[in-house]
Parts: sequence; structure tokens; C-alpha cells
Amino acid sequence: ATVFVSGATGFIAQHVVKLLITKGYTVIGSVRSSAKGDHLKKLLNTDKFSYEIVEDIEKAGAFDKALEANPQVSVFLHTASPFHFKAVDFEKELLLPAVNGTKNALKAIQLHGKNVKHVVITSSYAAVATASKEIDNTHTITEASWNEISWDQALNDPVSAYRGSKTFAEKAAWEFVEVEKPDFTLAIVNPSYVFGPQAFDSEVKDSLNTSSEVINAIVKNGADGAIPAAKGGFVDVRDVAKAHLIGFESKEAVNQRLMLNSGRFSGQDIVDILNESFPSLKGKIPVGQPGHGKEIISNLAKVDNSKTKKILGFELIDLKTTVVDSVKQILDSKK
Ligand code: NDP
Repeated sequence: ATVFVSGATGFIAQHVVKLLITKGYTVIGSVRSSAKGDHLKKLLNTDKFSYEIVEDIEKAGAFDKALEANPQVSVFLHTASPFHFKAVDFEKELLLPAVNGTKNALKAIQLHGKNVKHVVITSSYAAVATASKEIDNTHTITEASWNEISWDQALNDPVSAYRGSKTFAEKAAWEFVEVEKPDFTLAIVNPSYVFGPQAFDSEVKDSLNTSSEVINAIVKNGADGAIPAAKGGFVDVRDVAKAHLIGFESKEAVNQRLMLNSGRFSGQDIVDILNESFPSLKGKIPVGQPGHGKEIISNLAKVDNSKTKKILGFELIDLKTTVVDSVKQILDSKK
């Protein structure tokens, strides 16, 4: 089978592409430039991978040419979406690319993807949890929960804008399926903060993708650096990649939201793991208040993703493993 992966150069997508190739799929990735495509092709080092250039997923018809040229595509994984908290023009940089990117992908499949049987879209826990409910420990969040943010609220600040972008993009996908009743199946992947190593050691740069940077910053900023304020759910990128495959390989995943959450974490928990696991980092990273993490996350909502775990059928990687594997790779890259 030939699988199309949008945003193939991304942190998560590189793992997805790598896993697909290991499993014998042929992969066509969309990338923003030939330089980025050639770079990824070199890393993957296989003729099972080729790329198409989609400079901007937001432009009308963005995916039309790429799919028209590849009628053999039978699975479409849409991962491309801007993920950062540094937007200035929230609509232009986050909301519109996310929403229109998703719509453009689905329209192109309808027009040119006559052999596409399955679509999997990378949404987010951000589309599941409403900010006020996420910090209410009497509340339980499940696969049926939706972020109740409005478009106006999403224009408040960069974090709300990102959370809104994922919410409205996922909504657009479900609406498309409801209205158009396409021949393909849809599954959604909703990961929490994604940690874990880069798919290739050589992809470790001074600055990493937004979620990996939470951990990278601790190593980078020295003993006086701040304990990351980030807290919430986490999942390892290798599990996220597996979930994307289950999204089209498993009948159980059809019309489902796979809410990927291996547990809760706080910046303090990450710092504690690093201080315990890496003697070489002693005195070079902050200490904070060891053991205080439990209290920091005690006000967070409960997460019940038992439905997802049943569909996945594998054990999710724990916090210590994902943090240690991330930092091992970062430290090795500095040798
Ligand atoms: P990355 O930033 O590494 O990947 C994002 C990818 O999307 C990149 O390949 C980027 O291309 C591409 N992209 C962004 N905007 C555009 C655009 N306008 N036109 C074309 N391509 C674009 O982040 P992740 O791998 O973490 O994110 C992948 C997906 O997972 C996103 O949908 C994100 O929302 C979702 N997600 C991530 C989580 C995490 O914690 N990492 C958690 C939950 C969901 P380029 O780099 O060339 O600009």
C-alpha cells in the first residue's frame, strides 16, 4: 500500500514515516521545499520514500497536484499543522493554516484520491480538553470531550490560538465526513505533549520542535534555568507513530479519537528524573523542589482514555523512559 504523509519532515511525522517503511509500506511525504525533501530522503535512505512539494497547506488546492500525480495512494495521514506558541497574528499563523490545511487535504482526496480508503488526522489533546476543565480535578476527560473554546477566545493569546487551531481543524474534518459521506474511513489521533527522541540522531539541533524543547531547554539553560511551567499529559513519540498506523490498520479505530496519554507530568517531574538518571548533569540543571511534582499536577482533571488503550492494545511508554531516551540522544549529540 502507498501511504501519503503530509508534513513529513515534522518531529512526529518522521517517526510515522520511519515506522511505515519498516512495516513495508511505500511512503510519499509532503514537504515544503526540495531541500527539506532531499534531506529527509537521505536520512531514510530507501527508495520506498519519495516526496511531493506542498509549500503551504493553507493555499486553496494545496494538495491537488500531489495527489493527482499519485493516484495509487490508498492511505492519507494528515500531520502537517503549525505547532508553536510564538504567533503574533493568531488567525494567519495558526488558526487558518490548521483549519484550511485540513479542509484542503480532504478536498484533494475527494477530487484526486480515488483509491484512498483511509484517512488519519493528527489532532491533539488540545481539541479534547477545555482549558478551565483541565485544571478542575473533579472533572474527567474522555474521548467524548471537546474543547469548548470559541474562535474569539482563540484570538486571546498564542496558546489559546494553538489550542483553537487544533479544535477547529478537527471539527472541520468531522463535519466534512458528515456532509460529504466520503468512501474513506476517518480516524483521529489526539496526543498530549509528545516527548521522546528525534527519529534520527542527526536531527538534534540547538532548538527542537515545541514539545521536545520543553526537555531540551532544561539541559540547555543550566543550573539557574527555570523549571518548565509545562504540565499536563504526555505520550512518547514512538507510541504516537504506532497509533497513526492503528488509525488505518484497525477496524476498531474507524470514527474514533485515539486519545494518547500515558499519564500526567510537570516540569519538576522531568527535572527529578534527569537529576536521578544523569550524574553528568548534576549541578548543570536546576533542582527545584524534588518530589513536589505530585502536588503541581494534583489540580489537573482526571483522564480516562481506557477506550483508546483498548484499541491500541499495547502498553504506553512511561515518563521516565521517554525523558531519559530524549536526553540521552541530546547528550550524545554534544559528544
Ligand atoms: P513539527 O513542528 O515538528 O511538525 C509540524 C510539521 O507541519 C512540519 O513538517 C511543518 O513544516 C509542517 N507545517 C506547518 N505549517 C505548515 C504549512 N502552513 N504548510 C506546510 N507545512 C506546514 O511538530 P510536531 O511533529 O510536534 O507536530 C505534528 C502534528 O502533531 C501537528 O499537527 C501538531 O499539532 C500535532 N501535535 C503535536 C503534539 C506535540 O506535543 N508534539 C501534541 C499534539 C498534537 P516545516 O517544519 O517545514 O515548517
